[in-house]
Amino acid sequence: MLTVIKIPHITQKFSWQEFRDWLHQASASARMRTNILAWLIGLAYLLVGAFFWREWMAQYDLKTQALWMLPVFAAWPVLLGFAALFNRIVGNWPLCPACGKKIHTLLPTLASKRCPHCHALILEDMRELSPGYLLPLTMEESLEKKSGYTLSVNTEFLREVRIILIAPLLMIALFLAFGLNRDMELEPMMTAIVQTIGVAIIGMAVLPSLISIPWMTRVCRSLRIIPKEQFIYCPECGCIPSASIARRTGCCSECGAKLLELANEPDTPDMLDWHAVKRYETGRSRSAIVAAVLYPMFLLGSLLKCWRLLWALGAIYAITIWQDFRLKKLARVPKKCPHSDN
Ligand SMILES: [Zn+2]
Ligand SMILES: [Zn+2]
Repeated sequence: MLTVIKIPHITQKFSWQEFRDWLHQASASARMRTNILAWLIGLAYLLVGAFFWREWMAQYDLKTQALWMLPVFAAWPVLLGFAALFNRIVGNWPLCPACGKKIHTLLPTLASKRCPHCHALILEDMRELSPGYLLPLTMEESLEKKSGYTLSVNTEFLREVRIILIAPLLMIALFLAFGLNRDMELEPMMTAIVQTIGVAIIGMAVLPSLISIPWMTRVCRSLRIIPKEQFIYCPECGCIPSASIARRTGCCSECGAKLLELANEPDTPDMLDWHAVKRYETGRSRSAIVAAVLYPMFLLGSLLKCWRLLWALGAIYAITIWQDFRLKKLARVPKKCPHSDN
């Protein structure tokens, strides 16, 4: 049942620094473009809510007004989604020398040294092993009661968590600022929601990146979410590498430094199914898109108190999460090497 996938060989490789700098530059300008667009969208919402919304809505009954909220909820994720797609197509991203496709992500390319599309080895990295890093346990190992730590926190995760930290605080602040509450009349409430979304978009484009990652790491350590004793940091860059990437590649997911002595991976896909890893990664971005599409419908459902719609949306989301879980299982490192007994 094993499908043989051909992995191309190339002689002309990038140096890892060259690749990292190129990618950093490309993603910095992509981020800038997205931020500018987010500010413009936010400003447009704010102006429409403050000056035009009431006038436009005066001609409709309440039900039609509530329906008009749907494009209000949906417009900004759709626009930002298009911007993300546009950024992937136009940006000056590094090109894979083997297949010519654009490479948009540092993780896991810098660690695997492989193109995320065709899996050819494209990065040259002559760095020696940096000793000291200890791989955290997998879920299975910790269930077998081996000593050590299971760790799900890493630097990339902390970066994403900043959004979850900021969003509710910002929303509460905005609800207070715009006086949104249960007893409000529906019409002024909808006007206030349009403006709230505007400020929220501007805030979310700026605020999360202001929280420093070293500070979050320190807080996690003092809360004992990150173990103090075990050395789970990369000795080269000080970040906490993704354990699953380190386990697969032996390298730091943030800087690509060699952390573990692994056997040289043969260029055959039966040892580690990189395509399954990629399917898992695409699956994750797909769930993010599904969440972005479901979210406006969810808000509308709760605004109209339509519980059946909310249940249906919840079920769709649960299926997406289950799918992610299944793909994650397929992308796991095999327990046994197919070439030997180890
Ligand atoms: Zn390629
Ligand atoms: Zn590192």
